[in-house]
Amino acid sequence: MPALHAIIIGAGPAGLAAALALHQQSTPASPIRVTVLELRPTIQTLGGAVNLTPLALRYLDALGAGARLRPRAAKVPHIDMLSHRTGASLGRLWPDVDAVRVLRQDLVEALVQTAREVDGGGIELRFGVRVGRIEEKGDAASADGSVVVHFTNTTTAGNGSEETLEGDLLLGCDGIHSFVRSSLVDSGRTKTYSGRATAYGFIPVAKAGDAGIAAADGSPAVDVSTLVTAQLGSLLVTFFEPARERLYLATVVAQAEREEGRDGRRATGEEKEALKEDFLRRFRGGGLVGLEEAVQRCEEWVSFPVYMLPPGGVWCKGRALLLGDAAHAVRACLPTYNFHHPLANSLSTDAAAGREHRGGHRGRGAAGAGGEPARYAVGGPDAGRLRGAAAARHQEDVRRGRVPVGPGGRQELARHGGHGVVQCRVHLGHEPLEQGQLWAGR
Ligand SMILES: Cc1cc2nc3c(=O)[nH]c(=O)nc-3n(C[C@H](O)[C@H](O)[C@H](O)COP(=O)(O)OP(=O)(O)OC[C@H]3O[C@@H](n4cnc5c(N)ncnc54)[C@H](O)[C@@H]3O)c2cc1C
Repeated sequence: MPALHAIIIGAGPAGLAAALALHQQSTPASPIRVTVLELRPTIQTLGGAVNLTPLALRYLDALGAGARLRPRAAKVPHIDMLSHRTGASLGRLWPDVDAVRVLRQDLVEALVQTAREVDGGGIELRFGVRVGRIEEKGDAASADGSVVVHFTNTTTAGNGSEETLEGDLLLGCDGIHSFVRSSLVDSGRTKTYSGRATAYGFIPVAKAGDAGIAAADGSPAVDVSTLVTAQLGSLLVTFFEPARERLYLATVVAQAEREEGRDGRRATGEEKEALKEDFLRRFRGGGLVGLEEAVQRCEEWVSFPVYMLPPGGVWCKGRALLLGDAAHAVRACLPTYNFHHPLANSLSTDAAAGREHRGGHRGRGAAGAGGEPARYAVGGPDAGRLRGAAAARHQEDVRRGRVPVGPGGRQELARHGGHGVVQCRVHLGHEPLEQGQLWAGR
């Protein structure tokens, strides 16, 4: 049987996780081949330290990337909250959880390495290619249809040559500024700039594990991860590597939009000084000893602008499906930015999700179930709470490819053996909300 070819645009957490998850669904009888197209020539080194919740870690483990990632991360069994004014403890968030904080770059690297080593080379990663046009051929619901991606090869070897790639399925994992969303799936759903950016910096500590900041009672203010709550915002001070030799400081700042820095930028010159001054203005003084000095020692500042998408929208059309930030961007909130959301959306495309749902009450039509794939299951066990008008509304939303999901929602893809159908399930928090499916031919 010819392999089903899935083309993924974007090698961020969502695209790479989806590639691994699809590969896990591949069998000799029903093979899946995956090509990932990434704009950047290499893995991007810009990016803060991100918090991975137990759920995200569980998905990463199931995808085979967890073991690679954990040794690069700092375990975060809780987050302490301290008052900036008094230096006293305000409480402890998420006590005793199996969470970690790690550089975004390390997360992407772990996923890339895992993808490069999958059996049989079923995942091809191509860096340095800019997708410029997407074309759908034939009827999306027929086995003869396909999706054609036109891109420019910007690598030195490619020298700007134009190439095309034909596939059965397209996953738009190209982030908040998604070309797949704006050119194909939902051009009417436009991003807006929040007016805010996550600003962050890194500093070395004099002694491993000791942030050099003390709380009001003289105890170390940073065990692993601490959120300092002040009148003018919150400051995250956290370790993010197992050796605990560097601290990550982050807050949310007001910032005007600038086109050239929309994927984050290192601040230089006056902008760098202004960012540092902004941090100091908010977190100078107070009851914590050593905090101001820590901010003063930070020499490199980065800002990452936060864009937002209106809720709802269309997530899939024909053979194309949006995943990750392309479908549901993050919110402009505290810098305890939480990868549960994008990762749960992308990583739950895995075999573990199939296992999790197969035997339980959510099991209908789950991955690997075989046989005919479930049709939309509104009113059935997968959306058992939806009744009457609500059920009809959701059914219509799914039929039209519009799957409403708010913060905390997630999507799952599951391949049904032999049928070439990729099923999309949407969850809000832990509650299954809706499911639809994408016909991928063959
Ligand atoms: C460089 C970078 C740094 C970040 N730093 C932070 C941070 O410090 N703090 C924070 O809270 N969030 C940060 N984010 C956002 C956070 O990482 C995202 O919420 C999360 O990564 C979402 O994952 P994703 O895979 O959906 O999208 P992304 O991580 O945005 O990945 C999308 C990928 O698609 C690629 N791409 C885009 N357009 C095309 C195209 N036309 N053709 C081919 N490839 C394309 C991009 O280069 C990128 O690699 C950062 C994102 C990026 C890209």
